[in-house]
Amino acid sequence: MQIIKFFVCVLFFVNLCQKCNSVEKLKIGGIFNISEESEEIAFRHAVRMANNYNQNYKLFLTSETVFVDHTDVLKTSKAACQLLQTQVVALFGPSSSISSPHVQSMCDNKEMPHIETHWDTRKSTSSERNLLNLHPHPQTLAKVYVDIVRAYKWKRFTILYDTDASLAQVDELLTSNEQEFQVQIRQLDLDNSWSYRTVLNLIKKSGEVNFVLACEIDVLEDFLLQAQHVGIITERFNYLIMNLDMHTLDMAAYQYAGCNITGVRLLDPELNDVIEVADSLSRIKQKLGKPVELASHLAAWKINVKTALLIDAVSLFYETLKDFHEAKQFEPKTLFCNATDNWEHGYSIINNMKTRIWNGLTGHIKFDHHGVRSEFLLDMVELTEGGLIKIGTWNSTDGLNITRSYRGDDLSHLEEEGILQNKSFIVITALTEPYGFLTETTTQLSGNDRFEGFGIDLIHELSLMLGFNYTFVIQEDGANGNYNRETKQWNGMIREIIDGRAHLAITDLTITSERQGAVDFTMPFMNLGISILYRKPEPVPPSLFTFASPFSIQVWMLLGVAYFFVSFSLFLIGRLCPSEWTNPYPCVEEPEFLINQFTMKNSLWFTIGSLMQQGTEIAPIGISTRMVAGIWWFFTLIMVSSYTANLAAFLTIETLVTSFKNIDELARQTEIKYGAKTDGATSNFFRDSELDTYRTIWKYMYHHPDVMTSDNDIGVRRVENENYAFLMESTTIEYMVERHCTLAQVGGLLDDKGYGIAMKKDSKYRNILSAAVLKLQETGKLTALKIKWWKEKRGGGNCASGAAGGQATPLDLKNVEGVFFILTVGTILSFLGTFIELAVHILHNNYKNKRKLNDNFKETYMNELRFIFKFKERVKRLQPAALTDNSSTTDSNELMQDPARSEELEVVTDNQTSRKRKQSK
Ligand code: GLU
Repeated sequence: MQIIKFFVCVLFFVNLCQKCNSVEKLKIGGIFNISEESEEIAFRHAVRMANNYNQNYKLFLTSETVFVDHTDVLKTSKAACQLLQTQVVALFGPSSSISSPHVQSMCDNKEMPHIETHWDTRKSTSSERNLLNLHPHPQTLAKVYVDIVRAYKWKRFTILYDTDASLAQVDELLTSNEQEFQVQIRQLDLDNSWSYRTVLNLIKKSGEVNFVLACEIDVLEDFLLQAQHVGIITERFNYLIMNLDMHTLDMAAYQYAGCNITGVRLLDPELNDVIEVADSLSRIKQKLGKPVELASHLAAWKINVKTALLIDAVSLFYETLKDFHEAKQFEPKTLFCNATDNWEHGYSIINNMKTRIWNGLTGHIKFDHHGVRSEFLLDMVELTEGGLIKIGTWNSTDGLNITRSYRGDDLSHLEEEGILQNKSFIVITALTEPYGFLTETTTQLSGNDRFEGFGIDLIHELSLMLGFNYTFVIQEDGANGNYNRETKQWNGMIREIIDGRAHLAITDLTITSERQGAVDFTMPFMNLGISILYRKPEPVPPSLFTFASPFSIQVWMLLGVAYFFVSFSLFLIGRLCPSEWTNPYPCVEEPEFLINQFTMKNSLWFTIGSLMQQGTEIAPIGISTRMVAGIWWFFTLIMVSSYTANLAAFLTIETLVTSFKNIDELARQTEIKYGAKTDGATSNFFRDSELDTYRTIWKYMYHHPDVMTSDNDIGVRRVENENYAFLMESTTIEYMVERHCTLAQVGGLLDDKGYGIAMKKDSKYRNILSAAVLKLQETGKLTALKIKWWKEKRGGGNCASGAAGGQATPLDLKNVEGVFFILTVGTILSFLGTFIELAVHILHNNYKNKRKLNDNFKETYMNELRFIFKFKERVKRLQPAALTDNSSTTDSNELMQDPARSEELEVVTDNQTSRKRKQSK
């Protein structure tokens, strides 16, 4: 058994060795700065990845790396020599422009492929045949930044840089465009990172708002933080970051500052390949005990260009080597720096690499014959509230292409500005008031001067803004444009635009979805809706009972109730009130009986007298009766004044009658004819509507073609002369009622739409014209033009709006309920008062008759009440010293039962009252 196991093992190893022998191992060398630990890890990982992707291929790549201080040229050269001795087939790095040229010349001598991935401003020469640099070439990159600066229309800006290497990047930007821009350059003091503030304060004071930042990523981080403290990270300021690692910056703190921070990136951190690499690198670092604090998708945002380029460089090299290996047998060679030999395959490999086109983490990779990466694709990114987002691209053939939608100072819009400069347009219009008229003049005019109107002025304003020239032509039949569903053809101005006979069309051209499908429109320059033009309402003849109109029926009824209630209250209170019981014969010192002026008849008379503001001879004597009377007078005062005031309104304001108040009523009636402009947006609105009312309207118009008009003017004339309502657009109605005083708009708007300037579909002028229309709107120019053509010119203001048919409404209970309340409360109080008054009177008499207080008070009070509520009793008999005697009521009963005596007493009561009045007079 043991022997079998042994044989299996031997066979396995033999097989493995055979496999090892068939795989060719080749080594690449990497020279890294001591600070480039991450890059070295990425380099090794790239080699591993290349091997993994090509597992079935018999080429196995290994790596040998060295760390050196890049500033030490001697040591770097020595390290390169050591690597050459280890039979490497290519050298990667170093990434320093100080030591790199030395390594480069060694590689040239030894014909060793040399691959760089750093920013290198050195111009390639033909002697550097062995050099390949994956970093986008500075000269080409400078073009990118110049393109952005141009797109932003920066005429002046300040460049802030940190190191001389950064200045070298800026140099490209400066030298290529000395004349075009006014540039200031300032260096940030790196010795003390907190002293950026000095520079920041200086630039803040300088009033500069545009900055180009050419700094290392860590400097940028500090710079932005301090700039925010100084207050120059706000909406006013624009920053262009010249660093391809901009995406690795944490800019969350500036996201909401409104500041425009733009840059470009070579690497899209959202790509799956990038995320995968970031993930594996994080895991490797974790294994090596290096700090990794980010999730893979976040780590992808931290992958810098250097790392990505290194990975791309290794992959690209492997692919090239693979092809080369398939084509040719070759061996690596031990090379010594002090010897004269070289590696004969080096040139071939590097030349092969130069001709390759490859897609890596950093996008499209292609080299020119100098080994320079002059063709590449960049993403233009901008900081927004949602973080850094891609707003466009740049590539070497098409240049800058900004794709983001309109935002404040949209670049695409800025780019377009100037497109219309000196262009000539044929503008078609119709002679539709007030959009286009023939100019009123006695002299002969030619060209555009022949026309005037709102549309003509609007085009003129646009031409002043955008610099284009225009020639007006007239649409003779005045048709705006209608699509014939049978012939599938457009007519009117829309047809002219489609056929290219006119570039722009302006009039009361409504933007509709049907038209939008055939032509393009600018933003609406005017908003409107469909409404009805009809004759002004006529006044109603006054009715017989207009005098009753000031109060509602409710109030009239309550007034009647109040009258009877108060009269009866007065009658009661009068009887209760002792002062109202008076001696009918004042000369008789000790009268046999007393009389009361507030009989039912007198009470009714008194209240009606005051309600009619006339008064009576009856004058209340007691406090309670006076109180009721006073309250009633107050009530009548308010009621009568309210009535008078409202009556005046009723008599002076004319109530107007309208035959219909809205579109529903118009649709329901049959007496008034109605129509719209043939083939206009208004009639099409009814044609396409699904609503019952509008369908009724359309059916009527469709079956009565005589109600349709060929233009607005004919419709308006028909409204004036016939019993006809014209359905038209509110802006035109507004214009017409300013000039035709018998006409008015009836009802509200049926829809909401706008007029636009039409142009050919997909016109590149649309955005710029729309932006210009918007600008005219914002500056109030459009409003001024509207006032000019609606209210001032051509008969504007003819019908100054006089007293329109206002309507007075009857006073409701709500308007007078307070008065009723006071009347009720006052009357109740008077009742209470009169009971008290009666009590005081009895007490007083008791006292006067020398009786003991409270002696028989209750009995006397009750007797009095009993007498009072015997309404038949008209007189109160007095018995000396026996006010409370029951006989008094008995006597008076007897007295009243005798009709002759009773009548006599009534006369006495009335005479007594008139005498008192005369005396008081
Ligand atoms: N503005 C309409 C159009 O563009 C014409 C007038 C109307 O239909 O009321 O067709």
